[in-house]
Amino acid sequence: MAGEAFIVVDMLKGFLVEGYPLYCGDEARKIIPRVVSLLSDSKDRKIIYVCDNHSEDDLEFEMFPRHCVKGTEEAEIIDELRQFPGEIVPKTRFSAFYNSRLGQVLEEVAPEKVIVVGVCTDICVNYTVADLRNRDYSVEVPARCVASFDEEAHRHALKHMEKVLGARIT
Ligand SMILES: [Zn+2]
Repeated sequence: MAGEAFIVVDMLKGFLVEGYPLYCGDEARKIIPRVVSLLSDSKDRKIIYVCDNHSEDDLEFEMFPRHCVKGTEEAEIIDELRQFPGEIVPKTRFSAFYNSRLGQVLEEVAPEKVIVVGVCTDICVNYTVADLRNRDYSVEVPARCVASFDEEAHRHALKHMEKVLGARIT
């Protein structure tokens, strides 16, 4: 049983390296050094990377431009996090639990607390936190380690995760 599990949401080149269609912006890149220092500081923990990994014809592309297709550079974890080995869980929807191995991985780890970082606060972070809470995990979201391309939606989502979903915002 691990003390803490970190879920790192979509910290992929497609979202955090400028030039890709769903680049979250320079504000979002500011979380990178903070996530690096958070992971460097914590000892007894398991890191789980939940990563967008779409097929060529994913229906999500009716809503968003084509992004993070399986096997492309966009779908790779950013270089800054390579120093932290972890379990990679591919996903295709906003909740990292949908059609993925995440539920099983967490059951094996059985963490006392799950800390969620990454992008976007109001989309994949929010829906993943909702499904963590549905499964009764104790969840913490460090506000300075999550971001969105939409600042207002980011703030709203933090409030929602705290007040409605019962996550601890730190
Ligand atoms: Zn996607």
